[in-house]
Order: sequence, then C-alpha cells, then structure tokens
Amino acid sequence: NDIADRILRGVETVQGGVHEALFEPVIRLGVTGLSRSGKTVFITSLVANLLDRGRMPQFGPATAITAAYLQPQPDDTVPRFDYEAHLSALTSPEPHWPESTRAVSELRLSFKVRPAGLLGGLTGQKTVHLDIVDYPGEWLLDLGLMEKSFAEWSAEALQAARDRAEGEAFLAVLDAADPSAKQDEPTAKSLAQSFTAYLQSARAAGYSDCTPGRFLLPGELDGSPVLTFAPLPAGEAPRGSLHREFERRFDAYKREVVKPFFRDHFSRIDRQVVLVDALGAIHSGPKAVEDLRRTMADILLAFRPGRVGRIMSLLGQHKVEKILFAATKADHIHHNQHPRLTAIMEALVRDARDRADFAGASTQAMSLAALRATVEETMEHQGQSLDVVRGMTEGGKQAAFYPGELPEDPAHILSPARKGAERWLDAQYEIMKFRPARLTLRPGEGPPHIRLDRAAEFLIGDKL
Ligand code: GDP
Repeated sequence: NDIADRILRGVETVQGGVHEALFEPVIRLGVTGLSRSGKTVFITSLVANLLDRGRMPQFGPATAITAAYLQPQPDDTVPRFDYEAHLSALTSPEPHWPESTRAVSELRLSFKVRPAGLLGGLTGQKTVHLDIVDYPGEWLLDLGLMEKSFAEWSAEALQAARDRAEGEAFLAVLDAADPSAKQDEPTAKSLAQSFTAYLQSARAAGYSDCTPGRFLLPGELDGSPVLTFAPLPAGEAPRGSLHREFERRFDAYKREVVKPFFRDHFSRIDRQVVLVDALGAIHSGPKAVEDLRRTMADILLAFRPGRVGRIMSLLGQHKVEKILFAATKADHIHHNQHPRLTAIMEALVRDARDRADFAGASTQAMSLAALRATVEETMEHQGQSLDVVRGMTEGGKQAAFYPGELPEDPAHILSPARKGAERWLDAQYEIMKFRPARLTLRPGEGPPHIRLDRAAEFLIGDKL
C-alpha cells in the first residue's frame, strides 16, 4: 500500500511538472553586454514598461495581456535582480543611475494572457513566465578560453598587452619576474594585480576583449587562487615553479568558473539580447571599434548551435532562437542620426555572422535607449542649424550638446583597412554625461525610452 501510495504520488509530481511545462510556458531571456553597456537600465525600464503596460505601442502580441506581475524566480540560489531598488533610483526626486551589473541575477515576470478574438472566450486565460537572466558579457567571452591551453592563451594575451599602450606597466612587472623560479604567493599576487589593472584600463580605454572575464568582475571569487594568475611567456616550467602553478590555476579557472556558468545559466537561455555601447566605442576611436567588431564575432560564436555543448561536454543544450544586438544610449544623438547607428549595428552583426560561420538563431540589429534622458532641439550656430540633444548634466544643469555626426556609410567606420585618421562623434560627445530626467509617471505609465517596445516585440512578442 505504502509503495503504491508513493508511486501514485510520484506520478502526480511528474504530472505536476508536465502540467507546468505544458500549460505554463517559460521564456528564458538572457540580457548581456560588456560592463556599462546598459543591462541594468534596460531590464529595469523593460520590466517597468511591461508591468504597467506603459509606453509600448509597438509591443503587440497576438494575445491580450490581462495581467503582468512579479513572482519568486525558479532558481533559489541565483541572486534576484534588484528591480525595486533600481527603479527607485531612476524615479526618485533626485534621479540617479542604478548600480550596474556585477554578476548573474534573475527576475521572473509572469503574464496572464487571453488569446484574442473568439478563441479567447473558448480557451480562457493562460500564464506565461518570462525569466530574465542578467549576466556580464565579459563572462561570455571566456568561452574562447575553453579551447586554449595556458601557453596559447598567454601568447595571445601578451601580444594584446604589447599592442595596447595600457599594457606597459604590467609588461614591466612581468619582465622583472622569474616564472621558472619557485612559486611564492606575493609574486603571484603582484603579477595578477598588475595584469588586472591593465585589463581594467584597457576596458576603460574602450577595448572590448579583456579576458578572463572574472578578472574584471570577480564577484565572490575576488582574491581567490583561481583569479590569481597572469599570462607568462613560453619558458621552463619545472615542478613547484610559478609557471607550473599559473598553468594549473588557468585550468582551474576554466573548470571551476567558466564551465559552471555555461552549464547552469547560459545553456538554458531561449532568447538573448546583447547590448552594445557602440556610440562609446565609436567615440573612443578606430582601435576600439576594431576590437568591438572582433568581440561581436566571439560573442556570436557562443550561440553557434551545439558549440557550447561540445566544448563543455554537456548534453541536450537547447537552442537560442533569437538574438537581438542593440546599440544602447541612442538618446545621446538626434533621431536623424539613428538610422546611421542602426546601419552600423547591422553591419557589425552581418560581419560577425560571416566570421562566426553561423547558421542558427534569427538575429536583428537595432538602436535604442532604455531610458530616454534627453530631448531634441535644433539650434542656430554661426549661421548653421545644428541638431542637438538637451538634458540634465551630472552637475545638475540643463545643457544642450552637439555630439557630432555618424558616417552615412558604415564602411567608413568598420572597414579594417581604415586604420584611423577619421574620427566620428568627436564634437561634444566626451562631455555628454546625462542624469536620468526627472519622472512623474501617471498610473499605467512606464519610463520614457526609444524603441524598447520594438526590442520587446522581437524578443518575446511571438511567445505570448
Ligand atoms: P551595465 O553595466 O550593463 O549594467 O550598465 P548600466 O545599465 O548600469 O548602464 C551604465 C551607464 O550607462 C548608466 O549608469 C548610464 O549612465 C548609461 N545608460 C544606460 N542606459 C542609458 C540610456 O538609455 N540612456 C542614457 N542617456 N544613458 C544610459
């Protein structure tokens, strides 16, 4: 009896699981991008606009959404995306930007929907869950490390450090060290610290490829041996030497840090948005753009069907169906420049697709602002009319800026032969640091944005 009872209960739980899977579909939406690309602002504004069915005219699923609400997420050990704190930063009387993404986090938004038309009355409501997973793009780039040995990675990382002015100090520290000597922790630490400092300044200078990703965003691993290594030139690696130990830590990093992230988070994503601060890279100059272009191809590689599964020897990785590449912060430029920004994103995606030899998800490129902080104006300046954007500066003053122009043909920015002289967005882009505008939202109104509704439509519109 007892056994029969247990079997029955087992069947019930299985059915319970099946029930949820069948009748309550779950969409896992990954949101990524390099640090400061705008992930936190994007998720906060997206959720606020979806919850209140705010300013989303272009978001038009076939169903009628009768309710949208936040729920406890399914993964108990993943930090929750702190939506309320981020929204209150943006909407407080002294609005300020929320704290940026430092690690993976998750938020579940659930919808009650009713099929439109006659069918609606017949089938009734259903519930669809949207699990938003926020994670640093830096971690995605680590996928490339999985296929490299310590020697291969070192050779590439050292070459990059030599090519960038920011690498000088680290290379000097490295020069003074003897990697074949017996390993001691102070030397290991000082090498790792100057390597990390170099990666951080390279990132600040606009370079995208700054792996290993956790060196920039270490989370709870800060100071652990798995992050205390640096690339070393080829040479002797006797037992007990610093070289041997760094090699071992590099392998541990792949095994203990990179692999679990792909297994537990990445491999479960259905839809993905990759946010790109393309304006920032363009402003930083040709080297930063070239680096971004290569990085986009690396990112797309991770979405190549079957690749992650093969590298990580995982079974049954499901496929990412759609990927949106979005240039963020488009409110920094006048809307008459937006088509040019979108064309640049489109060219980047096309190029990345070609390089990644990629035939998988459907992709789209777009330019958007998750939280619009400016208004547009046309000003007379020395007999010319200039299209400017006006907003509240970090210093608390209203000011109008002319950011400069983007080229009409993306090839002017993206062709690798270009090697430099031309610069774009060179006018006042550097000094344009806006605060979020003061918001007075009426009930049912979401924060102002540019094309966030179109992004939502592409990513999830067909699933509701
Ligand atoms: P994350 O590191 O990817 O989470 O980046 P955040 O979402 O924290 O954004 C980084 C910074 O970019 C913010 O603090 C803002 O200064 C700026 N930013 C992000 N989104 C927008 C936007 O839509 N408009 C404007 N003007 N600035 C933005």
